[in-house]
Amino acid sequence: MKRERIYLDNAATTPLRTEVGEAMRAVAEDSNFNPSSLHAEGRRAAAVLDDARERVASLLRATRNEIAFTSSGTEADNLALIGTARRAQPGAHLVTTAIEHHAVLGAMDRLRDEGFEITVLPVGASGRVDVDQFAAALRPSTVMASVMYANNEIGTVQPIAELARVARARGVLFHSDAVQAPSWLALETDELHVDLLSLSAHKFGGPKGVGMLYTRRGTPLAPIIHGGGQEFGRRAGTPNVAGIAGLARALELAVLERPEQTARVAGLRDRLERGIVAIDDVQINGAGPRLPNIVNASFDGVESAALLIALDLAGIAVSAGSACASGSLQPSHVLAALGSDGRRHGGAIRFSLGTTTSESDIDRVLAILPAVLAEQRRPVTPHGGMGRV
Ligand code: PLP
Repeated sequence: MKRERIYLDNAATTPLRTEVGEAMRAVAEDSNFNPSSLHAEGRRAAAVLDDARERVASLLRATRNEIAFTSSGTEADNLALIGTARRAQPGAHLVTTAIEHHAVLGAMDRLRDEGFEITVLPVGASGRVDVDQFAAALRPSTVMASVMYANNEIGTVQPIAELARVARARGVLFHSDAVQAPSWLALETDELHVDLLSLSAHKFGGPKGVGMLYTRRGTPLAPIIHGGGQEFGRRAGTPNVAGIAGLARALELAVLERPEQTARVAGLRDRLERGIVAIDDVQINGAGPRLPNIVNASFDGVESAALLIALDLAGIAVSAGSACASGSLQPSHVLAALGSDGRRHGGAIRFSLGTTTSESDIDRVLAILPAVLAEQRRPVTPHGGMGRV
């Protein structure tokens, strides 16, 4: 009998939800036209696009022209940061944190090369940004601050509303990369007080290659892709109408099911974490408020790549720290920012649960993990024994 695999890499990407696939297929079959065309077919595509935008806006308690669809979360982050900086004085100052996704850190590096000043705030062992330290980092020349809502590697949740209020009081724009949030955390932009917010459909049951940026009305933002006037002049290029319809449907389902799924998945996460900490020489990375679906654990005496492969062979899909860096197994910048030593993040594994994870999945992982780990921890014997590979 073929054994079902257990997918615990939902922070890397989620499976496409059936309802979302159906919504996308209907659009692809009926309305796969250019929404800028004036004929009936084009108007049909434009109606689908408008409808998706209205639904997304209402879920975020925003207005339709505050929503611009993009090709990814990465593009939304780049647009937020580079687009804001391009409207500011040369040499202006921006603030971010050491545990942001590379989509933010890479854009900040680019802005530094262009002469902007960038402050990267530390987070300390808990992985949480200190509000006072954040306030102290703001200068008269600061134009924007970008702090992620929830971290993709360790799941720590940042006090976004508080940070955004501090920024607003100082006249600083506030962006949050909320890519990991939609299935678990509230996204009402009026309560978060953010000026800009990035999402990516494939992290909440939608398709890959579709994202969006919320931009509060009146926020100065220059486009980073030049061409036609689509997306209110914020993002040129013919929109991916079926993908956008998929994003809207996935977001509706995520928001609708959030209360129940958050409680259910947090219970499974706790069960998994209790089982993991019962194993010898294990530490959980990150503390304080966390997403309900991520457990990041460092296992002493193993390499995370070897453990990941052994778990994969045993039917369990996980990731080593973060899978987002082009599949490379570089030491994690997030774990480094927590101050963990090299040995700790050498053996770090991220288990990320999703809305399809079941109790029996968790029980099977807990049944398999100790033996896989013991095998990995066995010393290599000098004469071709069955030691660690
Ligand atoms: N921001 C965070 C926190 C993420 O986890 C990811 C994806 O891994 C991204 C941004 C990038 O999103 P996308 O894969 O849509 O480019």
